[in-house]
Amino acid sequence: MYQDDIYSLSPNEWEWFAQDVLFHLGFMVHVGPSEGVDDGLDMVVEKEGVKYLVSCKHNHKTKKNVGVREEPDIRDRVEQHDCKGFIAFYSVGATTGLKKKLLALKSVNLDVIEIYLDNILDIIPTIRGFTLQKYFSRPQEMHHHLLQEAEYKPLRCLNEECGKDLLENQRIPWSMAGFHVDEDKKVHFLYGCKSCISDYCNHPYWAEIGQVRYIEQMLGWRSIVDEIQDENSLLSVDFYKHWALFQEAILQIQVPQGWGRWI
Ligand SMILES: [Zn+2]
Repeated sequence: MYQDDIYSLSPNEWEWFAQDVLFHLGFMVHVGPSEGVDDGLDMVVEKEGVKYLVSCKHNHKTKKNVGVREEPDIRDRVEQHDCKGFIAFYSVGATTGLKKKLLALKSVNLDVIEIYLDNILDIIPTIRGFTLQKYFSRPQEMHHHLLQEAEYKPLRCLNEECGKDLLENQRIPWSMAGFHVDEDKKVHFLYGCKSCISDYCNHPYWAEIGQVRYIEQMLGWRSIVDEIQDENSLLSVDFYKHWALFQEAILQIQVPQGWGRWI
């Protein structure tokens, strides 16, 4: 999903990104990326007393796995920079040949850490928004549906004939929440496609799903719902149930504080 965003980074940006990711993983940075220069040294980092030489490879054009020829003399380079370990930080994978070579180096006590595209895709959702924002223009999209499929709970349009999942990326802009006041003056809390429910939302307050996924907006929306609860003694029996389901569902796509605002 965010592979394309990764491949749109320049090789230099890739090195800076690597620095941020390694810092996020608890490494201390001794020598950071040096722009333009490449003498086989990309970075030196340290964790738990072990210094690592970091090799960043960003085959963003070919998308080919890194091979043995792209990583010559690993052992020499590691020793030359007074390190005890080696970190492969690749936006692709490694060829079987290179993996064998790294395995051989591990067996002679070189501390080798392999971080490939798959690992990076797993790490990204754990990185804070303001860091991701340096590299990716729309980090909120990278935050979408982070949960394991098994844990994910859709939010179905309350129009029973529709039942579409409002949290699907393409559906978010067309989805809303609002209130319906029925003939007995009871207030209902509704969510659904705009086309399905907007006619039923006969109360002035309503919200876009794309809006309330931003935590700042959700807080505002929450106080509106509180206000409506306080002002109306007549709440429908399903008001709290719907409100609870809604909040629980939105949490799954919530954009954390400081990631930008809904426009
Ligand atoms: Zn619908």
